[in-house]
Amino acid sequence: GVPPASAAPTAVPAATSGYYFLDAPPAAAPSDAPLQALADQARRAAPDSHLDGIDLRGPRAADAPLPGQALQGPGAAPQYYFVHAVQLPNGFVTPAKPHPHAAPGAAAGHAAQQDRHPGFDIQAVRRDFPILSERINGKPLVWLDNAATTHKPRQVIERISHFYAHENSNIHRAAHTLAARATDAYEHAREVVRRFIHAPDAREVIFVRGTTEAINLVAKAWGGANVGEGDEIIISHLEHHANIVPWQQLAAAKGARLRVIPVDDQGQIRLDEYQKLINDRTKIVAIGHVSNVLGTVVPVKQVVEIAKRRGITTLIDGAQSIAHTPVDVQDLGADFFVFSGHKIFAPTGIGVLWGRREVLEAMPPWQGGGNMIADVTFEQTVYQPLPNTFEAGTGNIADAVGLGAALEYVERIGIAQISRYEHALVDYGMAQLASIAGLRLIGTVPGKASVLAFTLDGYSTDEVGQALNAEGIAVRTGHHCAQPILRRFGVETAVRPSLAFYNTFDEVDQLVREVRKLAARRR
Ligand code: PMP
Repeated sequence: GVPPASAAPTAVPAATSGYYFLDAPPAAAPSDAPLQALADQARRAAPDSHLDGIDLRGPRAADAPLPGQALQGPGAAPQYYFVHAVQLPNGFVTPAKPHPHAAPGAAAGHAAQQDRHPGFDIQAVRRDFPILSERINGKPLVWLDNAATTHKPRQVIERISHFYAHENSNIHRAAHTLAARATDAYEHAREVVRRFIHAPDAREVIFVRGTTEAINLVAKAWGGANVGEGDEIIISHLEHHANIVPWQQLAAAKGARLRVIPVDDQGQIRLDEYQKLINDRTKIVAIGHVSNVLGTVVPVKQVVEIAKRRGITTLIDGAQSIAHTPVDVQDLGADFFVFSGHKIFAPTGIGVLWGRREVLEAMPPWQGGGNMIADVTFEQTVYQPLPNTFEAGTGNIADAVGLGAALEYVERIGIAQISRYEHALVDYGMAQLASIAGLRLIGTVPGKASVLAFTLDGYSTDEVGQALNAEGIAVRTGHHCAQPILRRFGVETAVRPSLAFYNTFDEVDQLVREVRKLAARRR
């Protein structure tokens, strides 16, 4: 499905067409103050400083042939997505003007050229996601609601379908062939998760329903055993409700206290204040890796290090980082790392709790029942070792297999490539949105991941969302399950476009064009 080098697609702009910048304002107009400020911020920040704690080495096994690859369908050959296999026509990535965040001194347009170059064939990627061809209100779908959930490539859809057509069985407990196939598929997925997050041991990977269930599991099982009266639990002001409420419930049940790391006006956590909060009563620090409202990439490695020095347990909520940044749980150093499959091109209803083996082994089980037991009498039960200790009952087998397929898909493209491309897309989107009069960006930390939240003067956030939907553009509006952080910025709701690696600069331009039209109408 890759066009030969000589056949330049007609939609590809010539280098000087200005196609991508249809509505871009002149770079140095006085009204560009917010844009300029953003650009300056980005320049001041050391290169890649926002990637603190993130492994840029990329997936270690990215180039190795993957088990189960035959099931991935056509287009799965590793080099398919890579640029070296796809001669892009001249001008494909040449910008009409320098990228607003181009490093000072960079050859004219060079930085932008790099940034616009995804490092993979984005049109081939888009063809893998059937839903991206939908039309909404007669317009091509522009899916900018990736922080809520992501779409699924046909490799994942077909893998799940293959499971039900050829492998379906309950796992771990029968002598027949289908039980063996299903168990192999499920355990293969566990191994893929291990590799993807660079965990040392697949037994540390527990399949759960998602981030919410994983955090509840830790709060109930670990918290139930380790948090007592007068103890303290630290979270940050950025957290999703899923990383607030379970700790609040634990604190109420135990007579413990929830402490909250404040954020600065850009939306980064205050490490100085964190250091003041932490004390001998602190039992756990539970921190989001990337904010689902502001897109802030939190320096979680530092947060963990500070806690670890005092022997405090740590949990990272990776719901919003897993699809956007390389994750190495050994490098991050936390005791728990949790994420949801549906945020990374896998099905809903499946997610992961990773925990350090010693910590998991010292933890009592949460739910009891089948699968997690070795022996049961009415007097006592002997539990299975990890990971089954924490997988009571029949789990979501098919979707775990789908999660494995999704991670293998991401591995073939390369999470480091994805991360680089998305950061360029986000920086571009931020600069473009900042140039719209009456638009207020919520969360302006340089090096944000995926999320571009804003409010627009004269409009409710729902009005903006509906107007964009009329043009086929899907964005989230509302409180995004993180009311405290929105209130910190003085709003109850925001419009939240959020990007994934299948989004294009073109789509960002469409968003900006429509928002600019709305802004002009009520001024
Ligand atoms: N934490 C964060 C940062 C999130 O963005 C989300 C989902 N919006 C969650 C937790 C909860 O994830 P799930 O609903 O998949 O359990």
